[in-house]
Order: sequence, then C-alpha cells, then structure tokens
Amino acid sequence: MDFQVSEEMSVRLAMIDEFMVKEVVPLEAEMLHGDPETLDAGVAAAQEKVKQMGLWAPNHPVEYGGLGLSMVDHGLFAEAVGRSPLGMVVFGTQAPDAGNIEILHKYGTPEQKERWLRPLIEGEIRSCFSMTEPETAGSNPVLLAATAEVDGDDYIINGQKWFTSSADGAAFAIVMAVTDPDAPPHQRASMIIVPTDTPGFNLVRNVSVMGHAGSGHASHGEVIYQSCRVPRTNLLGPEGSGFAIAQDRLGPGRIHHCMRWLGIAARAFEMMCARANERVIDEDGNTLADRQVIQHWGAELDAEIRGARLQVLHAAWRIDREGAKAARDEISAIKFVVANTMLEAVDRAIQVHGALGVTDDTILAYWYRHERGARIYDGADEVHKTSLGRRLLRRYKPDVG
Ligand SMILES: Cc1cc2nc3c(=O)[nH]c(=O)nc-3n(C[C@H](O)[C@H](O)[C@H](O)COP(=O)(O)OP(=O)(O)OC[C@H]3O[C@@H](n4cnc5c(N)ncnc54)[C@H](O)[C@@H]3O)c2cc1C
Repeated sequence: MDFQVSEEMSVRLAMIDEFMVKEVVPLEAEMLHGDPETLDAGVAAAQEKVKQMGLWAPNHPVEYGGLGLSMVDHGLFAEAVGRSPLGMVVFGTQAPDAGNIEILHKYGTPEQKERWLRPLIEGEIRSCFSMTEPETAGSNPVLLAATAEVDGDDYIINGQKWFTSSADGAAFAIVMAVTDPDAPPHQRASMIIVPTDTPGFNLVRNVSVMGHAGSGHASHGEVIYQSCRVPRTNLLGPEGSGFAIAQDRLGPGRIHHCMRWLGIAARAFEMMCARANERVIDEDGNTLADRQVIQHWGAELDAEIRGARLQVLHAAWRIDREGAKAARDEISAIKFVVANTMLEAVDRAIQVHGALGVTDDTILAYWYRHERGARIYDGADEVHKTSLGRRLLRRYKPDVG
C-alpha cells in the first residue's frame, strides 16, 4: 500500500488548508449568528476566489473543468474542506449535487448533460435527490411507494418524499419512483429528472431537524409529487435501473463523506486539545490538560481517528486499483466506523468545553446537531454491519456440498 501524495496534490492541499483558515472558517460566525444574505455574499465571494485558484469542483471529470482526481486524492481533498461546514459549498463539491453529478455524468444523455450537468458543475444551479419516503422504510428501498406511470410521451409521478435535502432553491430533483410494480424487486424503480418548477412538484416544508428548519442548501425538504408530468426523455439511464444507479451514487460518495467527517473529527480534536490546555481548573494553575482523564481521551481519540483515516485511505486505494465492487467490505466498514469516530470526537470536544461546548459560540454544537444523521443516511450503521457481517461469516461456512 502506498498513499504517497503527488507533488502537485500536496501543493493543492496546502493551498486549500490556507484558504480554509483565512477565508472559510471566518464565515462560520455569519452562519451561526449572522444574516443569511451577508453569509450568501461571503460564500459567493469565496467561491469566486476558489474558481480563480483553479480549485473549483476538482473531483469532477476533466472535460467538465474538474481535475480528474484519483479516489485517494478525492478523499484528501474532502478531508481538507470538511474542516468547516461551509467548505464543500465554497469549493463546489457539496452533497447532494456531487452525487447527482456523478450519475448524470455516467448515465445522462447528451441533452440531459447539456441542460443539467454543465450548469450544476459550474455552480449556476443546485439540485436535490428524492428517494426517501416518510411512510416506507428507507433502509429497504424496494418498499418504495412513489410511482411514475407512462402516459403517452410523459411520466406522471405521484408520491410523498422527505429528506430531499437542499430541495429549497434547487433547479431539479432526481426522483426515484416505481415504473414497473410487477418487475423483480430491484428492477421496479427508475430515476427521473424533475425540474422543480414542474406543476405538481410541491415543496411543502423544510423539515425541522434538531430545532432548525434551515433554508436553501442547508435544508431537508418534504416534497409531494402530485400528478407531476415530465417527458419520458427525463428518464436517467434505462427504465428499471434505479437501484443500480443508486448503488453507483453511493460507492465513491462514501469516501467523500467519510473523509469529510475525518476533517470534522480532526478539527474537533484540535479544539478539544487547545481548550484543555487553556482551561485552568485549580488555584495552582493546572489545566484540564493536566488531568489524566483528558489525557486518556486525547490518546484514545487520536488513535481512533488515525485508525479510521487509514481504513478510508485503504478503501480509496483499493477502489482506485480494483473498483468499488472489490472494495465492498471496506466501503461498508468505513461508513459505520468513521461516522461513530466523528461523533465521538465532537461529543468529547463538547464535554471538554463544558457549557461553552453546547452554545453556538463555537462550531461544535452545530456539528452535534447536523452530523448526528451520519449514522443514518447512506445506510444506517446496523444495515452496514448486517450486510458486512453476513458476507464475512459466509466465507467461513463449512462446505456442505
Ligand atoms: C441528514 C440526512 C440527510 C438525508 N438526505 C437525503 C437525501 O438527500 N435524499 C434522500 O432520498 N434521503 C435522504 N435522507 C434519508 C436517508 O437516506 C434515510 O433516513 C435512510 O435511508 C434510513 O431510512 P429511514 O429514515 O426510513 O429509516 P428506517 O429504514 O425506518 O430505519 C430506522 C432504523 O432502523 C434500524 N434498521 C433499519 N433496517 C435495519 C435492519 N435491516 N437491521 C437492523 N436495524 C435496522 C436502523 O437503526 C435505522 O436507523 C437523509 C437523512 C438524513 C438524516
């Protein structure tokens, strides 16, 4: 194994680190306490600078202005920009657009690419991904109830979705709906592009999550599709291939998420250590850093973060060499390992900060609220553990034949 970073990538990462400290982290105060319009203006100005530095949307294909990064480089980039909740948006690589870009690139027709993919990569429009439904278990999407029925040259879509993240202000949704209820379970559903100004696309609310409904990109929409009519040419990939496309969307996306979470974990760890050194806890001038319990937390967390990081880099390295299918076990494992490591880092950093940790005077409480979902989306911990555990155990089953 060799995770050696090229000279060129090292320079890029150094540029990103400096930009994050000087230009992105200072915008967080506006996000936590300020005015959304001032924040939007600050983000737009930072995006412009990123474009001028040639680092806009680097994870995308070269023909669309990206840098054609390997999976390992992609991961290191996500880790660097993940250190702030604003990093992905400032660099043009935020979910759910990044995943939608991947599937539009792989499955889109030339017309779909021209109309949706190019402006999405250029940051002119935003998108959303509409699969989960309040009334069916998202962990088993073969239960999906939303339908897309053919009517002449159109599909008519009906159904209720929620956690359609970033639907507020998005130009289009990629919707997963049942096109053939009689097909085998994994061939029943398809992905269809729905412009959000189509009559029958109803964003009914931004779902309040941990006390905040959010807006724009930082929101999770409930959408009711009510006789929503789109041309059949909006079908993405072949009819019935919704599950196959969803799998494609998730593989590289996990490296992206896991390394972003490791960026969060690293910053939370650094904040925990800095606070422990500052906070005097007795009249002799001893600090929290002088207490063994905090020293143990530091040691344990550092070891956990290093271990998690090596696992993700190894998964990325394997995807680069053998493809996502060969790295299936590694991809399942990193999803639950890193989500828990990141949440542990945020929780311990909050504990060391005491009351300050639960205020919005630092970024920690924001992460505590917004990143809890990491153990749920893209496959809940239990689902990944079950499928990985089942595969592992099967390999040791005695040959009964
Ligand atoms: C922050 C956030 C953003 C999201 N963004 C999007 C988005 O943009 N688009 C979209 O379509 N969806 C999105 N989702 C939805 C997400 O994909 C679903 O929440 C997820 O698939 C789980 O589905 P569910 O919520 O219906 O939970 P359920 O399927 O009802 O499962 C509930 C819990 O049951 C347990 N469980 C489930 N299955 C098993 C099993 N087989 N064995 C043991 N335990 C099990 C797990 O603990 C799980 O958390 C988002 C969710 C969150 C939290």
